[in-house]
Amino acid sequence: MQFSELGLSEQLLKAVAEQGYETPTPIQAQAIPVILQGRDVMAGAQTGTGKTAGFTLPLLQLLQQKPIPNRPRPVRVLILTPTRELAMQVYESVKTYGQHLPFFAEAIFGGVSIVPQIQKIQRGIDIIVATPGRLLDLIQQKHLDLSRIEYLVLDEADRMLDMGFIRDIRKIIGMLPKKRQNLLFSATYSAEISGLAEQLLNDPVEISVAKRNAAADTVSQLVYGVRREHKRELLSYLIGNGNWQQVLVFVRTKHGADRLCKQLIQDGIRCAALHGDKSQGARVRALEEFKNGGITALIATDIAARGLDIDQLPHVINFDLPQVAEDYVHRIGRTGRAGAEGQAISLVDSEEAYLLAAIEKVLKRQIPQVADTGYEKVSLDVVKSAPKPKVQANKPGGHKPQAAKRSPAQGRRPTAEGKSGQQRSRPR
Ligand code: AMP
Repeated sequence: MQFSELGLSEQLLKAVAEQGYETPTPIQAQAIPVILQGRDVMAGAQTGTGKTAGFTLPLLQLLQQKPIPNRPRPVRVLILTPTRELAMQVYESVKTYGQHLPFFAEAIFGGVSIVPQIQKIQRGIDIIVATPGRLLDLIQQKHLDLSRIEYLVLDEADRMLDMGFIRDIRKIIGMLPKKRQNLLFSATYSAEISGLAEQLLNDPVEISVAKRNAAADTVSQLVYGVRREHKRELLSYLIGNGNWQQVLVFVRTKHGADRLCKQLIQDGIRCAALHGDKSQGARVRALEEFKNGGITALIATDIAARGLDIDQLPHVINFDLPQVAEDYVHRIGRTGRAGAEGQAISLVDSEEAYLLAAIEKVLKRQIPQVADTGYEKVSLDVVKSAPKPKVQANKPGGHKPQAAKRSPAQGRRPTAEGKSGQQRSRPR
C-alpha cells in the first residue's frame, strides 16, 4: 500500500513525503479511507502506531474539500487529548501535515497563560487540539463557540477516562452540533470505553491494530534482578558502558524522579525530570533538550510521559515497575517506534517481583532475565498468584559490575566501587 493510493491530496502527499514516510502504517492504511468516506471510527491503537497521522491527514483533506466558511471563521475540528504533552504533539502534527494548506490550528491546555489562546481564537482557527479543562474554561468565559464543529476526535480516550475526564467530555459533547463525524482512539478496551463509544459513535467502523506488546519484535525486553539500593548505580553503569545518548527512565513518584535526576547529575549524566509538579515551560524545555540531544536521560512519571512522541527512542528503563501492569506496555511503547529497534530494561527488586509476574501475565510471556547483573543475585521467583510481594532475604557476597568504560560524552562515570569511585556501596 502506498500513500498515493489512499485518496489524499497533492499537498498532503507532499507533506508526508517531506516527513520521509515511505508507506502508511497499518492504522493509517485502514483509517484514512474510511474517515475520508465520512464514517465514524472506533480505533484500537496506541501511541507509536502512527495513529496521529491516521486521523490528522484525512481530517485535513476533508476540510480542504469544503469551501472555507466566511468570517468569523468557525472552529470545525475539535481534537481532545488527556494531557498537555499529547495536545502539543498532536498540534505539531497538524501543523506539519497541514503546512501546505491554508488552515489555522491551536493547542489549548492549562498551566500556561490563557490570553494568547484567546487572541488566537479571536483571529479565527479551524482546528483546536485541547485538553478538556482549559477548553471548558474558554467556553464558559464565552471566548469559544463549538456550535459549528464538524469533526470530533477523542485521542487516548481510555486515558481520558482514567484521568476522570468523563464528565467534562460529556459536557463538551453536549455543546456540539448533532450532525458531525466522530473518531475515537483508545489503546485499551473496557466496559466504560464501550459505553462512551455507544453514546458517541454512529454506526462506527471498528479498526484495531496490533498492540506494541503483540508486535514486540522491534523492542527487546530485559529484566535485571537488583536490590533497590543498587539500581541507581546500575543505571549509571548501563548508560556509561553502553554510551547511551538518549534514555527515558520511568519512576513511580515525582519525588523519586527529582532524587534520581540529582544522583545521575552527580554521576556526570545530563538529565532532567519530567513530572506534574514542573511548570509547563520547564516541561517543554526538558522535552526539547531531550529531543535535540542536550540531555541524555529524561526521568519521568507515567502521567508525564504518556503520549510523548520521541522519534526512535533507543532505550527505555523501568527504574520502578509500574503498579498497573498495562502501564508497562505504554512505557515500552516509547521505544522501537515505527520500525526502529529499541530496548526496554526493567530494574526489578525482590519486592517488585509480584508486579513483574502481573506484567508477564498481561504480555502472556516471560521477559528474559539477565543472569549476572554484577550484583548479588536477587530472586524474582514468586508464586504467580501471590497477592502480596514476597520479600526475599538477600544473599551476601555479591560482586559489582566491572568498571564502566570512560566515555568523554558522558563525563564522570560511576565505577565498580560506587558513585564516581568515591564511595563503596557494600553488599549486606
Ligand atoms: P503516533 O502513533 O501518531 O504517535 O506516531 C508515532 C511516530 O511514527 C511518530 O514519530 C510519527 O512521526 C511516525 N510515523 C507516523 N506515520 C509514519 C509512517 N507512515 N512511516 C514512518 N513513520 C511514521
